[in-house]
Amino acid sequence: MDLYAGFDLGGTHLKYGVIDEKGSVLQDETVNTPEKAEELFVILETVWDTIRNVHHSNIKAAGFGFPGIFHAREQRIIQSPNCPQIDGHALVPSIEKFVDVPFFLDNEANYAVYGEHKIGAGKGAQSLVLLTIGTGIGTGIILSGQLWQGACGFAGELGHVTVNLDGELCRCGSQGCLETEVSAQKIVKSFRQFSRSEENLASEEVAHRASNGDKAALKAFSHAGFFLGIGLSIVINLLNPEKILLGGGVMESGEFLLPAALEEAKHRSFSTAYECCSIEQTQLGNKAGFIGAALWARDNLLHGQH
Ligand SMILES: [Zn+2]
Repeated sequence: MDLYAGFDLGGTHLKYGVIDEKGSVLQDETVNTPEKAEELFVILETVWDTIRNVHHSNIKAAGFGFPGIFHAREQRIIQSPNCPQIDGHALVPSIEKFVDVPFFLDNEANYAVYGEHKIGAGKGAQSLVLLTIGTGIGTGIILSGQLWQGACGFAGELGHVTVNLDGELCRCGSQGCLETEVSAQKIVKSFRQFSRSEENLASEEVAHRASNGDKAALKAFSHAGFFLGIGLSIVINLLNPEKILLGGGVMESGEFLLPAALEEAKHRSFSTAYECCSIEQTQLGNKAGFIGAALWARDNLLHGQH
């Protein structure tokens, strides 16, 4: 049986796994993302050895998804706001030291949308945009049934489109990016501001309080939803997509975020384009990145290595 391995590096976790030819998940693991690039490649090598020991030569190809601005021609991350340890790192030489099958690299959100498009909530959609909202916002785009990587591979950085001129400073160097206004951290910050408290708490706790009807918590989510709605209206007016899929940790509290987001998206986009776009939750959840990476490796194997 031919199998494919996928890796999805995030700011806090590295998710990886193995799928069969049809995309069924045979292995699904998570480890913490180390702080140093050298440690990351040591972990990747250890993980790779484990996969090979279990599945032997059945692994035919692998896909590695990295967060940040990925230069397709040079096969490296130019800038990763949420995982800066890999900025400029020569990825191919580090990976080919231990991976002995054809492998492919890309931005992790590109792989996530590819996974959803092939076997998830985006199956059959000819135009599809995926937003994963967590520590940052990843965006993947499918146009005319194909992954849209952009001229140099930099497409899909909706997280760094300005939605608030007076907003937070962003790790990308800009200000008021969608990612800074809708992130888990911003929801916590807004809650502290609205509740006039200095309490140190996680976004999950703000969600818990929202579910208990806490007004400041609900307002923090709807404030983020307002800016998410601006982001959605940009996507709808620019691309007129068939579907927008929303996923990531913050969307686990989607019921508090979505009403404001949809209201604002509807208000700011052309009604005909809004009506024809289906806005849904992702189906593969946080597995989309590694599943998509493995599916991409499967589908591109014939075109050669990298
Ligand atoms: Zn930014």
